[in-house]
Amino acid sequence: MSEHYDVIIIGTGAGGGTLAHRLAPSGKRILLLERGGYLPREPENWDSREVFRKERYLSDEYWFDKDGVAYKPHQQYFVGGNTKFYGAILFRLRERDFEEVEHYGGTSPAWPISYADLEPYYAEAEKLYLVHSQTGEDPTEPWRSGPFPYPAVSHEPRIQQLADDFARTGHHPFHLPVGIDLNETDPEAARCVRCDRFDGFPCLTDGKADAHVRCVRPALEHDNLTLRTHGRSSASRPMRAVARSPGSTSAIAARRRPTAPTSSSSPAGQRTPPRCCSGPPMTGIRRVSPTHRTSSGATTWRTSTRA
Ligand SMILES: Cc1cc2nc3c(=O)[nH]c(=O)nc-3n(C[C@H](O)[C@H](O)[C@H](O)COP(=O)(O)OP(=O)(O)OC[C@H]3O[C@@H](n4cnc5c(N)ncnc54)[C@H](O)[C@@H]3O)c2cc1C
Repeated sequence: MSEHYDVIIIGTGAGGGTLAHRLAPSGKRILLLERGGYLPREPENWDSREVFRKERYLSDEYWFDKDGVAYKPHQQYFVGGNTKFYGAILFRLRERDFEEVEHYGGTSPAWPISYADLEPYYAEAEKLYLVHSQTGEDPTEPWRSGPFPYPAVSHEPRIQQLADDFARTGHHPFHLPVGIDLNETDPEAARCVRCDRFDGFPCLTDGKADAHVRCVRPALEHDNLTLRTHGRSSASRPMRAVARSPGSTSAIAARRRPTAPTSSSSPAGQRTPPRCCSGPPMTGIRRVSPTHRTSSGATTWRTSTRA
């Protein structure tokens, strides 16, 4: 069956989910492809042993760095992407972040756009993601066209004491900009119950402003948008996209490295390890080396704990 879409968005996280929300009212036929499914809503969402120690929601995937050393990338594949787990602290980049920046490891080149170009979009995104904070408190804050859309979340008593003490000694403590569905003057009007399960935990009450709750769910109210979960895009062949606007047509071709080659050789004749593959959870950093070829020609990989 052939299906045609005007736009295909891969992933439903901060990037894809937000884009879907923005494009859904356009009436274009949109396909939203998500590798994972919906995160199960279950008591374990708020169980720190399950979330952190047992890594209940982490993919058991491991990736390899340029030296062939395996590591767990801390990936979570669900509708909403990593925002299901994020701390929802939503800072804007600073103006100077758009300029050339010297880092210890090298130079980050200047962006082709400036903070001023993005400012209106930051303002829009802060409304969408329910960002709460107090304008003017953070001395490093870039200029803004208006105040934060929601008031700062009050500190816990001990944090308030610390903030007062810091302020007394000439420091500038400030309220973090946090994306949260919280109304401290009318708790009935919002979803957050102000529990102590936030950064790193999925939110059982949908009180965290994540991409699933704030973007994908409302976008799905538009009939022109289709979400396909467990739909993994694997661009093993070169992709070709054609963008049409009145009076012009542009073709964009992209070639992506296969993510899990079964075998390959470097110019020196050494096999390179797969860049990404699924496997049993790994507990330490391990070195990977090829062992033998199977009858199908695939190379198998042996791992050993790194000294
Ligand atoms: C514990 C934690 C706390 C964090 N706290 C903060 C914070 O406080 N503030 C902040 O700004 N950032 C925070 N982050 C980082 C933030 O979550 C990410 O920067 C952000 O989610 C990245 O957005 P993204 O759209 O690039 O990717 P993601 O949000 O990860 O979304 C990618 C999506 O694509 C899907 N996908 C991947 N591959 C495929 C494929 N081949 N086909 C189809 N779908 C695919 C994934 O399943 C996922 O849904 C935190 C992250 C974590 C894990």
